[in-house]
Amino acid sequence: MIINMSGNAAKNEIEHVIERVKESGFQPHLITGAERTVIAVVGNGGRRHEIEALKAAAGVEDVVSIAHPFKLVSRQVQSQQTIVNVGGVRIGAENIVVMAGPCSVESREQLFATARAVQAAGASILRGGAYKPRTSPYEFQGLGVEALRLLAEVRDELGMPIVTEVMSTEDVEIISEHADMLQVGARNMQNFALLRRLAKTDKPILLKRGASATIKEWLLAAEYLLAGGNPNVVLCERGIKTFETELRNTFDIASIALAKELSHLPVIADPSHGTGRRSLIASVSRAAVAVGADGLIIEVHPCPERALSDGPQSLDFTGFEEMMRGLSDPMRRIAAAGARTELASEVAAS
Ligand code: PEP
Ligand code: MN
Repeated sequence: MIINMSGNAAKNEIEHVIERVKESGFQPHLITGAERTVIAVVGNGGRRHEIEALKAAAGVEDVVSIAHPFKLVSRQVQSQQTIVNVGGVRIGAENIVVMAGPCSVESREQLFATARAVQAAGASILRGGAYKPRTSPYEFQGLGVEALRLLAEVRDELGMPIVTEVMSTEDVEIISEHADMLQVGARNMQNFALLRRLAKTDKPILLKRGASATIKEWLLAAEYLLAGGNPNVVLCERGIKTFETELRNTFDIASIALAKELSHLPVIADPSHGTGRRSLIASVSRAAVAVGADGLIIEVHPCPERALSDGPQSLDFTGFEEMMRGLSDPMRRIAAAGARTELASEVAAS
C-alpha cells in the first residue's frame, strides 16, 4: 500500500504515520519527492485494515494499494526517475552512460590498454570480470583478487569507476573494497541470499536479467535489494533464452521500454551478451538507446580472437570507436533519445 501525504503535511504528521505503520506490523519506506511525500508500506503479516484506517490521520491525503507484486521499484510508488551515482557518473540522468571493457580481466597490459581505449572513445565506466560464471569448470574462471587489484589500480590512474561481478556472498566484502558498482550476473538474478546480502552494502548494484526470467521476476529481484535497504539499483537487459539458435540469446528490446514504464530504476542494455555477435553490437546499441535505455555495457578486447572469454562478441578498439561514433550520428540522435545526447555530442566533437 502507499500512503500519500498531502503537500503541506507537517514533519510530525509524517513521523506519526511512520510510527503507526510500524505498529501495524509493516515496514515503512519514506519517499520524499519534489512535490509530495509518499510512505510505501511493505512486508507481510501486518494488519492492512489499520493502514487503511490511516486515511483519517492528519496530513494523509489517501491510502491506495499498489497494483503490482513489486512495490518499491514501481513507478506507482515513485514517479520520478531514480538517478544512480557510480563514483560520480550519474546513471538515469540526461546522458547515455557507456560501460565498456573486457569480459574478463586477463592481465595488467590487457586491462590498461582497454581502459584507455574505451575512455578515449567516450566510455565512462570500466567493466571487467574478476570472478567469472563459466558454464564449464574447465574454462577460465577469472583472476579473482588479482583482477580486483588491477581494476582498482586502473580506476585510480584513469579516474574511471569500475563495475565487476559478484557471484557469492563470501566475496561481497572483498569486491566492495575495490569496486564502485557490483554486478549481479544473469545466472544469479534469483540468488536470494546474495540479493539479501547486497541489500546491506552501500554500493550500487547492476542487476542483470536472468536468461529465463520474466520481466516481473527481474523487477521482483530488484525489489529484494530495495526492500532490504539498497535503493541504488540499475537494471540490465542482456538477452533471454528462446527457440532461436543463430544468436547466443534473444535480445528483448521491448523489456527495456516496459521496465522503464513500470519502474523508476535506470535500465541499461548489454548487446554483447544479448546477441553474442560482434557485428550486431552497434545496431542493437542504437536500438536500445532509441527505446529509452539509460546506458550500455559493451565487451571490448585488444585482440578478441585471443580473449579468454566471450571473444566472438567482443569489439576491438576500432570497432568500439566506430560503435560510439554511430551513437552520435545526428540522424540516429534524433531517433534515439531526444535531449539525452550530451555524451554522443562530446564524442562527435572529439
Ligand atoms: C558478463 O558480464 O561477462 C556476464 C557473464 O554476463 P551475464 O551474467 O549477462 O551472462
Ligand atoms: Mn562476458
